[in-house]
Amino acid sequence: MKKSSYFILPLALALFQSCAVNMSYSGSAFKKSFNSITADELKTHLYVVAGDEMEGRDTGSEGQKKAGRYLIGEYQKMDISHPKSMTSFYQPLSSEALKGRRVALPPSDNILAFIEGTEKPSEVIVISAHYDHVGMKNGEIYNGADDDGSGTVALLELAEAFQIAKKAGNGPERSILFLHVTGEEHGLLGSKFYAENPVFPLANTVADLNIDMIGRCDAENCGKDYVYVIGSEMLSTELKKINEKANNETVKLELNYKYDDPNDKNRLYYRSDHYNFAKNGVPVAFYFDGIHEDYHKPSDTPDKIDYQALQKRAQLVFATAWELANRKDRIVVDKK
Ligand SMILES: [Zn+2]
Repeated sequence: MKKSSYFILPLALALFQSCAVNMSYSGSAFKKSFNSITADELKTHLYVVAGDEMEGRDTGSEGQKKAGRYLIGEYQKMDISHPKSMTSFYQPLSSEALKGRRVALPPSDNILAFIEGTEKPSEVIVISAHYDHVGMKNGEIYNGADDDGSGTVALLELAEAFQIAKKAGNGPERSILFLHVTGEEHGLLGSKFYAENPVFPLANTVADLNIDMIGRCDAENCGKDYVYVIGSEMLSTELKKINEKANNETVKLELNYKYDDPNDKNRLYYRSDHYNFAKNGVPVAFYFDGIHEDYHKPSDTPDKIDYQALQKRAQLVFATAWELANRKDRIVVDKK
């Protein structure tokens, strides 16, 4: 009967290893999810989210609400719900909470979708993008396909990718919050509200990966496979390394750190929603394609998006989030 233990030990080891290998970038679980993020699906979503019927998604407008209902409908199709402590996907913000650069904004909502971690559910990775834009001016619709339709639809594809893994028994060990914030264009108001009223304590928030404009190129970089990464080393040296490793082992973009400096004159570190996490000590990475000729113009339309670039950048964020969610140790804040 002793023979069986000789037999069982290697089998157990093999099973353990295959599980670990399965969750690595070369493993089948990762690849299946990674490959589910496609240019075609991003395009289908973006033509809706940045379509004329959304009227430029100004904060609190009917068009923005319609876009929000589309996002929720897509999560429901994927069988993804809101955080358990909430009664719906909506985190409501009153006009009072939305007092930014403009005096009176109508009430609006952040939209939160959630995949609970299998091993460490109380530790949360936030992936954020703002779903508002600047609305209409003089009868012209500002579609905001890149800003930030691109980040908005990337979140849908990332959620689908994690959900595919979860349904196959390879769900993320830590939880993932897909945070669609409102009021960004009026002064990062939705993310500020979330940071002041977090659904999960910020102390348990491992990182915020923020996506704001990843579907175009700027004059300096058109023709290159690149993305600007901002803030990834500001609070945690590990986060920058994890993002670089994710990139090297998957999409191999040129990671451009030109704006990765709080003293840069463009001040991009302060200009999108990640900043409301960073200022509260949560490590962040901000993914961005640069300022292009259609930035904040009615010509930021879905036909001008480079869907292959959008796919690769979304896949990079996915690979980084996958590692943050599944690695043994939570990343640490080692810088101030
Ligand atoms: Zn934006």
